[in-house]
Amino acid sequence: MTGPGAKRTDGAKRTAEARLFGKPCEFIGSAPNAEALPEPKLPEVAFVGRSNVGKSSLLNALVGRRALARVSRTPGRTQAINLFQLGDALVLADLPGYGFARVAKAKQDAWGRVAVDYLRKRPTLRRVLILIDARRGVGDRDHAAMALFDDAAVTFQVVLTKCDQIKAADRDAVLDAVRAAIASHVTARDEVIATSARTGAGLEELRQSLGTLAATPGLR
Ligand code: GDP
Repeated sequence: MTGPGAKRTDGAKRTAEARLFGKPCEFIGSAPNAEALPEPKLPEVAFVGRSNVGKSSLLNALVGRRALARVSRTPGRTQAINLFQLGDALVLADLPGYGFARVAKAKQDAWGRVAVDYLRKRPTLRRVLILIDARRGVGDRDHAAMALFDDAAVTFQVVLTKCDQIKAADRDAVLDAVRAAIASHVTARDEVIATSARTGAGLEELRQSLGTLAATPGLR
């Protein structure tokens, strides 16, 4: 268990920026496409990744609330964009998971169309987090998503999930593969964060990164 009041297992001291994650996190809206979402007002960070990558688990662990997963799993909402507001500083956008199919260009499938539309309609979007299962590494679909964000000039950052499932040496190999994959993308952030929703590893680092983003105008 992690989050406000919980014992942290990663031993990191919570910084002023990361304390944003101790603030209330409220569900503010859900829609199958960006058109029907609440108006963009606060800085926003989107979470994307393959279905089953551990996106709901990570979101819950970050804010210390299981309630978020329940919202995102409500029938009809798994294919929706779900928005959560953290304090009065940041919106977390949970985008639908993408499938396993091999696609040449992410824009060509249904997920890609929703994503491109979302990017266009959310001028407050600062960064996209691409979640990658540490056991599986970077797949074709992840490469396609990276290319899509690069084309749209949207900053993205890779976050490894389920790192408790692999040995440290294997994790280093996955990190190297991720670094090689992002090297050709201008909008990729260099910093890759290795997390586990189960053990809490990397969560404080991620809270710090997003807290700094929320607190720093112009940072992406
Ligand atoms: P989503 O479909 O991307 O939202 O993925 P979920 O959060 O529902 O997780 C998919 C599966 O992976 C579930 O069985 C989770 O229990 C498991 N899972 C998620 N995060 C972790 C993690 O950090 N470690 C381990 N070992 N399993 C995880």
